[in-house]
Amino acid sequence: MQPITKLIINGQETACVSGKRFPLIDPSTGKEWIQVDEADKEDVEIAVKYAEQAWPAWNAQHASVKAAAIRKFGELIVANANDIANLEAQTMGKTASSSRLEMSFIPMFCNYFASLTETAQSTTSTNTPGHLNYTLHEPYGVTAGILPWNGPVSIFLMKTMPAVAAGNAIIIKSSEKAPITPLILGKLVGEAGFPPGLIQVLSGFGPTVGSALALHMKIRKISFTGSTATGKLIQQMSGQSNLKAVTLELGGKSPVIVFPDADVQRAAQECAVSILFNAGQVCVGSSRIYVHRSIKEGFLKAYQANIAAFAQNIGNAQDEKTTHGPQVDKIQYDKIKQYLEVGRNEGDVLLGGSALDREGFFIDPTVFTDVPETSRLVREEIFGPVSVVNAFETEEEAVTHANDTEFGLYASVYTRDINRALRIASKLESGMVGVNCTSPTSAMDMPFGGYKQSGIGQELGPDALSFWKQTKSVFVKI
Ligand code: NAD
Repeated sequence: MQPITKLIINGQETACVSGKRFPLIDPSTGKEWIQVDEADKEDVEIAVKYAEQAWPAWNAQHASVKAAAIRKFGELIVANANDIANLEAQTMGKTASSSRLEMSFIPMFCNYFASLTETAQSTTSTNTPGHLNYTLHEPYGVTAGILPWNGPVSIFLMKTMPAVAAGNAIIIKSSEKAPITPLILGKLVGEAGFPPGLIQVLSGFGPTVGSALALHMKIRKISFTGSTATGKLIQQMSGQSNLKAVTLELGGKSPVIVFPDADVQRAAQECAVSILFNAGQVCVGSSRIYVHRSIKEGFLKAYQANIAAFAQNIGNAQDEKTTHGPQVDKIQYDKIKQYLEVGRNEGDVLLGGSALDREGFFIDPTVFTDVPETSRLVREEIFGPVSVVNAFETEEEAVTHANDTEFGLYASVYTRDINRALRIASKLESGMVGVNCTSPTSAMDMPFGGYKQSGIGQELGPDALSFWKQTKSVFVKI
């Protein structure tokens, strides 16, 4: 499969109005490999016109027609998974094998969204005397989704499929760091049976095409995934323009609490996978680990062994053998190096601690211990293969540390004491909590979203379509 580098507008590969292109650097080599069209405000205007034309007829389709296209889209992604995985690896450094693993869950997600549209219900009420009242759940019409770079395929899916299942058209803006696979998916939606203009894809930069979407008066709903700082801008722009409905899926600094009665080996293995998947560039990565002092040595030994095993083959992300790939780009690589310096000054280095001396943007998987809770290493989202392991003495202390953050995306507790597990699950200030697990990859029937500055609203779960609909109450006098 050849990479697509032009915008997907009204079902066609379309050159951007300005004719401008921007380069992509392969993070495994540090070298430019391709250039991509750079959309701007004018391209947004064109896409909005086609979206306005596309959604009413689509919304009028029988639910089974919508469901069939959603299921077919899932099949097409899996049929093209090898090519998509290689392009993902070259664009943003996710190892091809982990991309394929991520894509293997996509048919399940598509089936779930399809079944939600087939079984959608509205309510009726006869409680008001002389009335038969009911609700209509209607699409917003033209909507938008802004993607981060770390999950261009899965996050594309989590936004587009519920949006169109609910009857909307959606314009996706991919990240400037990972625009290739969303453009390919934009092409595949035509093959799946979605009409032209229903799902369109624009590549380009945030302050131009991203803000044009967030400020657009005809776009009534925007779903954003990315950093907390940009999420705040999206909300401001919605307020400045037409008060569009906003969903924000933002950053995290996920804590894990490990008690002495836990399966320590399992906790260590799952924490290692969680912080190393996609070279630590995962919003729910277990970056802060609080271990009871009595088991700290044993945990660290097991954690170290699991990290070494996970990262045994460091190399080009397209290579099948590679288990640990590069960071997405030089900006991210340089940012992580600064945090490594902070860690070396403020904590103890258990593992790694530096960038790797090779071409591309590789960071050695790194574990710091005994880092002050006030350190930037503990408080800020690093978004790299870097974790902190600190000891605690009491349950109260562990929960206090876990909650002492402005983030609240995912938190875990490991213990065999069910009462303690449930007590802590209710105390953790987090949109999602794992009991004896880190974040599962295939729980599409559970809502996904953050507390505090990790976000507003949710995706997935049984209400996934309602986030893309507005509710009308109809009062009928009989
Ligand atoms: P980012 O905020 O830098 O960029 C995200 C998107 O916003 C990109 O498409 C970018 O072009 C766009 N953007 C930037 N400035 C903009 C502006 N002024 N107006 C409109 N759009 C603008 O985030 P990133 O570096 O791409 O992604 C990493 C972040 O995403 C991390 O914080 C991570 O935790 C978070 N994330 C969260 C989830 C979740 O579900 N909660 C999932 C994945 C990633």
